[in-house]
Amino acid sequence: MIQSKFSWVLFSLFLIVSEASARLPLSEGVRVIDPSKRYVKMLGENPDLVIDHVNSQGFEVFGPKGLTQFLDKMGIFFVPAEEPSKKLLASYPSPEASIGKIQALQRKYPDLITLIEIGKSVEGRPLLFARLTAPANLGSALQTRPEFKYIANMHGDEIVGREMMVSLIEDLASKYNKDTRVTQLLNHIQVYILPSMNPDGAFHQVRYNAHGVDLNRSFPDWTTSDNQNNANGREPEIQAVMAFQAAHQFKLSANFHGGSQVVNYPWDAIADLFPLDNLVKKLSLNYARNATYIYNSTEFKQGITNGFAWYMVKGGMQDWSYHWHNDLQVTIELTNTKWPEYSVVGQTYQANRESLIGYVEAVLDL
Ligand SMILES: [Zn+2]
Repeated sequence: MIQSKFSWVLFSLFLIVSEASARLPLSEGVRVIDPSKRYVKMLGENPDLVIDHVNSQGFEVFGPKGLTQFLDKMGIFFVPAEEPSKKLLASYPSPEASIGKIQALQRKYPDLITLIEIGKSVEGRPLLFARLTAPANLGSALQTRPEFKYIANMHGDEIVGREMMVSLIEDLASKYNKDTRVTQLLNHIQVYILPSMNPDGAFHQVRYNAHGVDLNRSFPDWTTSDNQNNANGREPEIQAVMAFQAAHQFKLSANFHGGSQVVNYPWDAIADLFPLDNLVKKLSLNYARNATYIYNSTEFKQGITNGFAWYMVKGGMQDWSYHWHNDLQVTIELTNTKWPEYSVVGQTYQANRESLIGYVEAVLDL
């Protein structure tokens, strides 16, 4: 009796606060063991909790302070989230070092790379896009080239994507005029790459930004009352991406995550068939097929899934991108482990290289 009373009080507290104001800041995350999927829907519908990376064994859940007590009292079994060693964490570049690498690449390849700071994070770290196209100073003639975009690391602890994006920038720039395919790509496409949308999260090695907000649950969502494409009151990282998107004509994009291995295509928020279902499935399958380890996933047939069929996400960037801007976007989960040994990052880049380049080239066929 005492137990159920306590959980009711805690549960109502979450709901009352969330209705009165914005979602409580996230501060705890664990992995719920739930092979029978008893709890995923129930917890997923609680507006103060965030569900992610559902698999055959369970799922991750993030919530405000008190989450683990709440789960305990509900009798829901969980284990700690992935806990990389300090040594492993220290083997990854800091956000500043990562930005430093991109700046050094720009200095080395100024004819190909333009850096665009679209804003700053809560703690004042730059949000830095690299634009690659040849030549970089083409001026108004650039307007005839389609715009493509990759965004990584919007979840601060999903770090492999950030490193892969830095590798991609270097790979493309260094192969221009040496490799025919890369040369053609940069001669015909404007490739925008934001390696880290959440440098504060990366610095603190957490999912959310420095306000405890999950950036991939905080975009406008036309399926809820948040149905205007209005940046006011949103997190600075979201505002920056929204303004940049509005100022461009992106036709195709992807965003990178970690904690699973799959290409996730829209919609995430609703069960309805996506208007470009055949096309987006084809693009997703091409990506997965060329990254064999994703295609061979034991959790997902052919390494792809519809977002909603996996688990519902409201306020995600992917749905927002197409609904408001006709920018077709998929969400790519790169590695089951969020913090693999740093040496694995290079192998992951190589395993994804063909997929990454092929997906950029696909913008020419849209
Ligand atoms: Zn993520």
